Amino acid sequence: MQDILINKLIEVIGTENVLTGSDVAERYYHIWKMEEDLQAKAYLLPKTTEDISAIMRTCHLYNQSVIVYGGLTNLVGATETRGDEVIISMERMNQILETDTISRTMTVEAGVILENIQKAAQEEGLLFPLNFGAKGTAQIGGIIATNAGGLRVLRYGMTRQNILGLEAVLADGTVISSLKKIIKDNSAYDLKQLFVGSEGTLGVITKAVLKLSEAPKSRNSAFIGVNDFDHVVKLLKHMDGGLAGMLSGFELIWNPTYRALTGEFASVKAPLPYDYKYYVLVENMGSDQEADRERLEGLVAEALEKGFALDAVIAYTESDLQWFWTVREDVHAMVATCPVDQHFDISLPIPEIGRVIDNIVAEVEQVEGCLKCYPFGHIADGNIHLVMSKANDDQALTDKINDIVYAPLKALGGSVSAEHGIGSHKKRYLHLCRTDEEITLMRTLKSALDPKGLLNPGKVL
Ligand SMILES: Cc1cc2nc3c(=O)[nH]c(=O)nc-3n(C[C@H](O)[C@H](O)[C@H](O)COP(=O)(O)OP(=O)(O)OC[C@H]3O[C@@H](n4cnc5c(N)ncnc54)[C@H](O)[C@@H]3O)c2cc1C
Repeated sequence: MQDILINKLIEVIGTENVLTGSDVAERYYHIWKMEEDLQAKAYLLPKTTEDISAIMRTCHLYNQSVIVYGGLTNLVGATETRGDEVIISMERMNQILETDTISRTMTVEAGVILENIQKAAQEEGLLFPLNFGAKGTAQIGGIIATNAGGLRVLRYGMTRQNILGLEAVLADGTVISSLKKIIKDNSAYDLKQLFVGSEGTLGVITKAVLKLSEAPKSRNSAFIGVNDFDHVVKLLKHMDGGLAGMLSGFELIWNPTYRALTGEFASVKAPLPYDYKYYVLVENMGSDQEADRERLEGLVAEALEKGFALDAVIAYTESDLQWFWTVREDVHAMVATCPVDQHFDISLPIPEIGRVIDNIVAEVEQVEGCLKCYPFGHIADGNIHLVMSKANDDQALTDKINDIVYAPLKALGGSVSAEHGIGSHKKRYLHLCRTDEEITLMRTLKSALDPKGLLNPGKVL
């Protein structure tokens, strides 16, 4: 027999939009866990903000906890369930509502997939700059809820910098709507920013106004081999200064990672030999393909002459560009080498990165069960990803590796999460990068917006 709450939910959004029993079990909580049955009380498929408001009013009345599901690509256990929650899936709220080419904005529902936003902007000669490996699955609502970063933060900022307006539903069903297209708005607190990075704990994001940019007319890239971290830092300053605002990517790949990304499971070959400790992938975007490439070539030649770059290859065609970026983006080729994988996205002050990562690699690879450490990252943002290849999924091993990776962060003013968020996996390490006073203020905000603690319980705090 169905309980009263389920009947109420059926009443408010219709029976065809409420899944229960085996229909719920067929769903999953993460794209990498599709083989596991989803444990949840019900799975709801709303189509409008009004549906979500009605769902939240009902759940508030019945003290029912709720988790919002986007594309389920998060890397921090943010969509794991305990079994007693109701799931709100955003998959049916997938409409692009408007592209305004004059204001350079796009108004979207929260369930639109990032790649569809990128394509729609491109068709208008515009750019939505957020870009990362999960673009074909991640939804804009989930991206906003995690304040995702990715490959172009250096030039365009995190998600936070690319949102002009937002609509969200609070835990009690109240709709907070500010779908403004304006760039400047200092009329008191910037409420939309509360929801950015809140991982579904403060409200359900239903719509957003995205900030678009004029699409660059040129894109050039170079892969550069370097042996010394100080030279990586010099190269960054050299490129950033020389490209004067055109530098849009500066990705660093450590040697073992580069080998895995171009090895057994890769779809592409290595653009440079395996002789270097570091591989830098530089990207500049501008307005003149030929002139911009010549400028990049000139800077690369200078870096080679000065000796802080040891080898380099430049992309001359669109397929070269695809090739270079596939090396960086096809993380799956590396993950496929791991019997079990564990992911990190830490932040560190740039000058400390080389030394700290060397120490972490040396220490974790001594741990029994830890087979290999693969570092790579958005180095200009101070953000390093580490993928650990492990022999097993034992919690003790996971904890041991966490302790080693996170140990240096507090003293150096780093962060346990540069861009993936906290979810359930990093909760116990939050105190390493946030003060007690900050965490207390976060709890105050949480209880002001969600006094019954119904939204994504057990996550973040
Ligand atoms: C291959 C791969 C590469 C990645 N690369 C990067 C990268 O380079 N940079 C980066 O920052 N991240 C990266 N990520 C992780 C990234 O955080 C997520 O891909 C994305 O931001 C989450 O979007 P999603 O729709 O999948 O959200 P989900 O995983 O479904 O949800 C994430 C969180 O947001 C909440 N949520 C979802 N939708 C809403 C909504 N409408 N309202 C309120 N809360 C909501 C959920 O409850 C959950 O807490 C990568 C992930 C993968 C798998």
